[in-house]
Amino acid sequence: MILFNDSAFIGGHTVLDFLNTVEDQDKQRNLNLIADWSSFVAWAQAASVFSQAQMEILNNGIPNSERVGLLLEIQELKETTYTALDGILSPETTKNIAFGKLEYRIQTAISDSSLVSQGLGFKWEPKSESLNWVVDFFVLLIENFLCHTDITKLRVCKRCTWMFLNSGRGRGRQWCSMKTCGNRAKLVSFRERNQ
Ligand SMILES: [Zn+2]
Repeated sequence: MILFNDSAFIGGHTVLDFLNTVEDQDKQRNLNLIADWSSFVAWAQAASVFSQAQMEILNNGIPNSERVGLLLEIQELKETTYTALDGILSPETTKNIAFGKLEYRIQTAISDSSLVSQGLGFKWEPKSESLNWVVDFFVLLIENFLCHTDITKLRVCKRCTWMFLNSGRGRGRQWCSMKTCGNRAKLVSFRERNQ
């Protein structure tokens, strides 16, 4: 099981933190950090994204036989969303297809959800009797992100595929984290200068 600390939550939004659950330190996305159920639940717990009742279902209410299928769907959603958001940053046909897929996925998730009150307003919540509610939960979180975030602030790390919201002015932040990619990039340019 993988444990997640604050360095896993640098995206500025849960959706971006969700996309950032890959360990690759380049532009590949092969090293999935939430590939097994216990790691996924550990991430969900650390992200504080589900209610206590939902966490209880994730911990004890989903049979082993269903977990692999759900993880596959979560993984597919994660990569479709990454490609779609990457398409906002640099449009390409394949990325637009991903955006269309995501749009369709959002429509089906909403049609299977209820509007429930939250704070001063309402939000879409998937019906928990459907086994797919975990996946739909993420789909609706993505809908919320797309509709309520200043998407001009979206950036992807220059070195890896981690995404974040840039809060600085001008060119702003270029790396997911100075501790990892920022330092590695500095080291490379230092070596190049001193060759
Ligand atoms: Zn990075």
